[in-house]
Amino acid sequence: MKFDAPKGLKLHRFIYIILAIFSFFIPFWANQYILHVATITLIHILLAVSLNFAMGFAGQLTLAHVAVYGFGAYATANFYIVLKFPYIISIFCGAIFASLIGIFLGFLSSRLKQFYFGIATLSFTMLSHWFFVHGGDITRGASGWFIPKPEFGFISSHNGIFYLSLILAFFVLWFGSNIAAGPFGRRLGALADIENACGNLGIDTKKLKYEVFIISSFIAGLAGGLLMGILGFADPESFHFVNMIVQFLMVILGGLNSIFGGLIGAITLTGLWEWVREFEGLWEIVLGAILLLLMILAPYGLYGFLIKIFPQWREPRHALNTLNMNSQMPNQINVSENNKKDSDNSIIIKNVSKNFGGVKALDQVNLKIEEGEIHAIIGPNGSGKSTFVNVLSGAVFFDSGTIDIFGNKTTNLKSHEIAKLGVSRTFQNFRISSRLNVLENVLLGSNIRQKHESGAIIRSQKFLNEEKFLIEEALAALDFVGMIDFINSKGNELSGGQMRLVELARGIMSKPKIMLLDEPAAGLSIKHVETAAKVIKKLRDELGVTVILVEHVLRLVMDLSDRVTVLNSGKMIASGAPTEVKDMSVVKEAYLGKRKNVI
Ligand code: ADP
Ligand code: MG
Repeated sequence: MKFDAPKGLKLHRFIYIILAIFSFFIPFWANQYILHVATITLIHILLAVSLNFAMGFAGQLTLAHVAVYGFGAYATANFYIVLKFPYIISIFCGAIFASLIGIFLGFLSSRLKQFYFGIATLSFTMLSHWFFVHGGDITRGASGWFIPKPEFGFISSHNGIFYLSLILAFFVLWFGSNIAAGPFGRRLGALADIENACGNLGIDTKKLKYEVFIISSFIAGLAGGLLMGILGFADPESFHFVNMIVQFLMVILGGLNSIFGGLIGAITLTGLWEWVREFEGLWEIVLGAILLLLMILAPYGLYGFLIKIFPQWREPRHALNTLNMNSQMPNQINVSENNKKDSDNSIIIKNVSKNFGGVKALDQVNLKIEEGEIHAIIGPNGSGKSTFVNVLSGAVFFDSGTIDIFGNKTTNLKSHEIAKLGVSRTFQNFRISSRLNVLENVLLGSNIRQKHESGAIIRSQKFLNEEKFLIEEALAALDFVGMIDFINSKGNELSGGQMRLVELARGIMSKPKIMLLDEPAAGLSIKHVETAAKVIKKLRDELGVTVILVEHVLRLVMDLSDRVTVLNSGKMIASGAPTEVKDMSVVKEAYLGKRKNVI
């Protein structure tokens, strides 16, 4: 079998090289005006890519990007003029300073979500503008700060800044697409679409938000330093909130969630902007009409439009273009090294309670789950089954009691820390990222196992080998759950049943010691229920995984499980072998009484 992934990465890199070669010759023929517009376009490319990282990839609605851009410019000016650093060094120092603002934005985004985060960043932009106007010697006031043109030795100042912008834009496109086409890009997709599942995938969302804002702000800071150089002054109006709209337009017009989209957006918008200036009094009407038309024709941006026509041009979130699967297709998913016998491999739950505003979702639950068993949790709706899975996986903290997983107390552990103990789960309401395709969603499961991620930026051989290995495993897992034909479908193109199967494959990819399945068969067709049953059996029999199965399809419970625990109003009312439990009067009364014919 041949696995054919989108060629986006290869194709885009080819385009970056062609554009760079073309741009190299611009100073040879262009007049001052064209050179200026070309430099601004390059600066806009940096801005668009950087904003796209935070907004398009990570889904963070930031309105502070223009302020970060401004801090980059003013910091560069201070390093260059006040501290008398060489211009190029000053730009990098300015970008590092902008990254510090990025840390603050990371802090804000780990506290606030969506519109609340948007408003906080808007306030930050307004405060920053005030500071740019009133910053005294640091910003030199409302009329702007004149900056002598930087020297570049044997080439003119304009040409020097142009080439510097070209080099930086090229590197940002190149290395940006490298890191997007790997685990970092996948994690950002998860953060944007399924933040509430990230912890259980072993993703520390707080850390990820800091990382993405530092990267995004560093690039915006570079853009600020270049702008200051090419304009010959820094003035507060360049970093007014209104200019945020230009940045938004570039990203949304070009295409959210893509490095290449940022490039198209920056070129198109800068070009359009210059062109409509010819329509003197009418430019707003012309620009507005063109943008409106473009957005109606291409609601997902020009990049979205392009990949609709040429799906193969999509920018992948994994590192391989093609892989010949003839020989490599593993027919069995290997048992993880993690699954070697520990001294204590049981899960001990002691007096665990969880209240939701007066509702006792779990009430003094005591249970010992042995290694390698399929342990079903059943009970009527609202009896606390999902809450049980949630407290075990760290999705919610429990109020009292203790949970011991393989000798580790999980009190106060966050979900991503529990995931690292080898606990994987699926969700009652599916959590699949629509920014990622099926293969990439499944690869998310291997997030905690990836060891050579740092090589992603230069696509080191170690990193590529690891990606190849993980992709082979992901394909095997997808084949096993019967979803191999859907690898290139986007997460939101699947039916509910298919999403469940993809979640199962993603769970397998984490090579867990414990798999928590919250109603894996709900909404599945009969054929798919059989597949799910096969997967669950395989997890126990071949991979030695301890399975905790919450399920309503009782036939599945009776067929598969070694032991069954029954919850009712948060209390454990019975626990034992399926046949024993089935006949207990207390269970019949609480749960099966009304539905005797279910089994
Ligand atoms: P089950 O999965 O058995 O149907 P749940 O564990 O989802 O039951 O819910 C048990 C009880 O806890 C219900 O009364 C439910 O309304 C409540 N509950 C569960 N999660 C939350 C939550 N996040 N916030 C408030 N109440 C909740
Ligand atoms: Mg439930």
